[in-house]
Amino acid sequence: MTASTGHPLGQALMDRLDALASFTDEPGRLTRLYLSPAHKAAAAQVMDWMAVAGMAATIDAAGNVVGRYEGSGEARQTLLLGSHIDTVRNAGKYDGNLGVLAAIACVQALGDAGTRLPYAIEVFAFGNEEGVRFPTTLTGSRAVSGTLDLSTLEVRDADGASVREALVAFGCDPAAVPAAARRPDDLLGYVELHIEQGPVLEAEGLPIGIVTAINGACRYRVDVIGEAGHAGTVPMNLRRDALAAAAEMVLAVERVGRSEDGLVATVGSFEIAPGGSNVIPGGAQFTIDLRAPNDALRDHAATVLQGELAAIAERRRVELTVERFYEAAAATCSDDLVEPLEAAVRRSGIRPLRLPSGAGHDGLAVLSLCPIAMLFLRCKGGVSHNPAEAIAVEDADIALRVMLDFLRELAPAT
Ligand SMILES: [Zn+2]
Repeated sequence: MTASTGHPLGQALMDRLDALASFTDEPGRLTRLYLSPAHKAAAAQVMDWMAVAGMAATIDAAGNVVGRYEGSGEARQTLLLGSHIDTVRNAGKYDGNLGVLAAIACVQALGDAGTRLPYAIEVFAFGNEEGVRFPTTLTGSRAVSGTLDLSTLEVRDADGASVREALVAFGCDPAAVPAAARRPDDLLGYVELHIEQGPVLEAEGLPIGIVTAINGACRYRVDVIGEAGHAGTVPMNLRRDALAAAAEMVLAVERVGRSEDGLVATVGSFEIAPGGSNVIPGGAQFTIDLRAPNDALRDHAATVLQGELAAIAERRRVELTVERFYEAAAATCSDDLVEPLEAAVRRSGIRPLRLPSGAGHDGLAVLSLCPIAMLFLRCKGGVSHNPAEAIAVEDADIALRVMLDFLRELAPAT
């Protein structure tokens, strides 16, 4: 199956990604839900590959696969690598799986060369990053970080099975979940390779990029109340058209989103009432999703935006209610890892580009345990959560070489 591409490391990784994609809960497409039979089979395959790479591999109480590659004699610290092996429904082959198999490939290359580093490596294949089967997310990485709310074990899937029951079926001991928490004191950090899931690297003509932060997000529900009326009889100057006001507000959201580098603002849901072709809209309701690589930038944008919305509402004589219903803090990547990663990218002859992650990742949970960093790999068209997800073998090869160089040069604090 291995084609001769001139990129042996990258090609071997692509072959394994293809092989892992065969573990699915739905024949004909890739769906691998947390603690499902396909997840269990994929975990067993990952353990096998870890063992071949010279790692001691186990499955922890939360269903994460963990492989450990010991360092040299003086090694006191451990670097965590990895990503997740659960997927969305009808997924692509690379989201999550790439970071796990790339980490194993790096350890394999180190082992093949007889190299022991001055620190140990633990590779994690986390479970439930995607949050598809159960109404909860980041279960595996939160368990490892010691921040998993144990009430999560009682939430149920659509068939009525709880996480606790699914863990038992998977072969895990739910009572041991608290003990799956990793001790923070000997950890160098956590580094994850992931597909970008966006179009920036492709647009920049770069195979890889260095992540600065996983964006924080807040979401608002906005209610605009005007006055419904007859589309034929109410003169224009006497109207309080909720839709016209809300439309102006949507443009203000877009304008604020464009005002700062790294900031993104989206109106993703919009409804009007009563909704008749001969009725002036009396009400409009929409959502705002605001994200930024740091919380100060996001909070500032939120303040500016609320001022603009209030001004529009006043000028148009409509009532305005803005309610925040979701907030997640940004996770900033550590300079202690970002700078060595950037140096490795530069040594490979690639222009180092720093970019934020618009999507959430396991690093959001791991940040409470140790410093985090991420490397993004270009994906075709920025497409993800879709079977059309694609990466180039040349890019996979570059990412592995950069990661290996990073691992070889990384020096633990003494
Ligand atoms: Zn992912």
